[in-house]
Amino acid sequence: MKTENIRNIVLVGHGDAGKTSLAEACLHMAGVTKRLGNISDGTTVLDYTEDEKEKQHSLETAVCAVEHDDCHINLIDTPGLPDFCGQAIPALAAADTAVVVVSAVTGIEVNTRKMFERARQFGLSVMFVINKIDADGVNLEELVGQIQESFGDVCLPVNLPKPDLTGVQRVIGGAGATSFGDLESAKTAAVEAICVVNDELMEQYLAGDADEDVVIQSAMKAVAVGELVPIIFTSAKNEIGIDEFMDAMVNWTPSPLEAKRRVLVNEDEETEIDPAGDKLVGQVFRVASDYKSNIKYSYIRIFGGTIRSDHQIHTLAEKKGLRPGAVYRMVGGEHQELDEGVAGDIVALAKLDLHIGNAVFDGEGGTIELPKIPTPMFAVAIESKVRGDEDKISAAFRRFSEEDPCFQVERNPTTHETVVHGVGDAHVRMYLAKLTKNFKVEVDTHPPKIPYRETILGQATDVSYTHKKQSGGSGQFGRVIINVFANERGAGYEFVDKIFGGAIDQSYRPSVDKGVRQQMAVGVLAGYPVVDVKVELIDGKTHPVDSKDIAFQIAGRGAFKEGFMKSKPILLEPVVNLEVTAPVDNLGDLQGDIASRRGQPVGQEMLPGQMAVLKAQVPLAEVSDYHSRLSSITGGQGSYMMEFSHYDQVPSNVQQRIVDESHKPAEHD
Ligand code: GDP
Repeated sequence: MKTENIRNIVLVGHGDAGKTSLAEACLHMAGVTKRLGNISDGTTVLDYTEDEKEKQHSLETAVCAVEHDDCHINLIDTPGLPDFCGQAIPALAAADTAVVVVSAVTGIEVNTRKMFERARQFGLSVMFVINKIDADGVNLEELVGQIQESFGDVCLPVNLPKPDLTGVQRVIGGAGATSFGDLESAKTAAVEAICVVNDELMEQYLAGDADEDVVIQSAMKAVAVGELVPIIFTSAKNEIGIDEFMDAMVNWTPSPLEAKRRVLVNEDEETEIDPAGDKLVGQVFRVASDYKSNIKYSYIRIFGGTIRSDHQIHTLAEKKGLRPGAVYRMVGGEHQELDEGVAGDIVALAKLDLHIGNAVFDGEGGTIELPKIPTPMFAVAIESKVRGDEDKISAAFRRFSEEDPCFQVERNPTTHETVVHGVGDAHVRMYLAKLTKNFKVEVDTHPPKIPYRETILGQATDVSYTHKKQSGGSGQFGRVIINVFANERGAGYEFVDKIFGGAIDQSYRPSVDKGVRQQMAVGVLAGYPVVDVKVELIDGKTHPVDSKDIAFQIAGRGAFKEGFMKSKPILLEPVVNLEVTAPVDNLGDLQGDIASRRGQPVGQEMLPGQMAVLKAQVPLAEVSDYHSRLSSITGGQGSYMMEFSHYDQVPSNVQQRIVDESHKPAEHD
């Protein structure tokens, strides 16, 4: 297989637009499958897991390949719901072109916009597919207008549906009537966009003798540099426009040779990876374990060189090298063994310790950029229902977070809770259901405690504390005098030894520091960790016999507690950036709701199609139930994204309530 004949396409867009159906239609049309896979029957190649068949939604990224016109097209089908972006975003790393699938019925949706932006930011070429053209009451012309308004007038139809929607007409080289717009003016627009990247062609075009074949040959470049974003039309369900879709991928989207070059970063050195180079460089963009066989597959995009089963590959963590054993081509959940993986292709390797984002190489090593993955902000605290299941749970969670970078688990040392982080409610629930189903363990869940922090606004000087214990056995003695200051937000903790002379033995001064740190870790005001303070040790006293490490630790703790409480202690709370997309009609209610959650509006933006985006900053403590509230305000039409922004001071009335609650005896349920 030649690199120039490969196309790597990631199908992105909102859930239900028809990405999986489109890939299934290509598989059918290209003869890979005998019959068209159907989502409602659970007979698709790509939504192959039990959960996906049950939910009738893609929950995971799946890869397949079709051959068309001597080209090998790798299709990466990603889950469309914003909650599952942890699988969709890394898939961009494997592709050269993002095909943004838009449903003609629902038009531009939250994830249409998000994934378009992410693909563009990452330097991918983009093509739009307007799917479901067969559905009743769709207005294709209006949708094309909205796409141009939202994503720029470089978005141009390169085919147009026939009036009876039984097929599509090519804009360049086609003839006949269309369901909207005329072919001639669509052709002019597309040709002019293409000529921008070829001066000679532009001159010929202006002189009226541009050769159509040359125009088509230049199209790939126009798409690669973003001067043209082709729009095509399909009905995946009725297999209309599918052949033309495959033609468009072959003729209009860049091969790995023309696409954006990835960069290998090694310390300060950046090297563009040459797809024609002979050293292997690839990147892992997905790992997935087969739940039945328990075999882990790592999916790799090869940017240069070749992967062979008997050749060692290296990662930064695996200097010794790994031996692949076999190289596979994945088609949904099935795999076929290959002799080798060539530059530009996508392959899978089994049973290797590889992680999403890892660069693999056989020459000079380094790292390769991965698209930015949002910090998951939805959190649930979990407890195992049965004692003794903890090990099974952590093994399962380790696997989930390996497969999905937006699924994270932490043991909070302050609150002693095991907290699961995900993008949203549906995301976390899906993994908890998997836990029960595939690992046979059940957990209880409750909202996690908010990870507040404690700090001070003021200062306290000459705070003294003496620890003395002289009853029975050997005694303990330590006296310290400290100053406590507020440090700049984010500056952390600083300990300064300002003792002149030997008031405290040199050997005991680190004990004071240690004591302060211990107290900071468990908090003073309400049991949350203390941040951003500076402590100066200015004086103290040592006892010739009774002074010891532990005595000065205790004195350090005591002095810090006292000094902290005298320095205007405050609580800090995490604040998130909230971005809500909802119908314009709901804006008033949404703004009111955000204000009642102590939120600060940041801005709003109108979108085509009576939709709007509302941006605000809201304390995390106020948004734990946002999911259900938004859904009730908008009748299920709204969606939101949340990401961590910063820590901010808790208002004093709220602070009082948190402090009071922290002093209540712990409740056990
Ligand atoms: P995805 O979430 O983007 O992968 O979308 P799916 O491929 O799962 O399709 C979502 C739903 O739309 C399914 O019920 C499909 O049967 C339906 N669908 C897909 N393509 C078409 C189409 O061209 N026309 C119509 N009318 N329905 C379609």
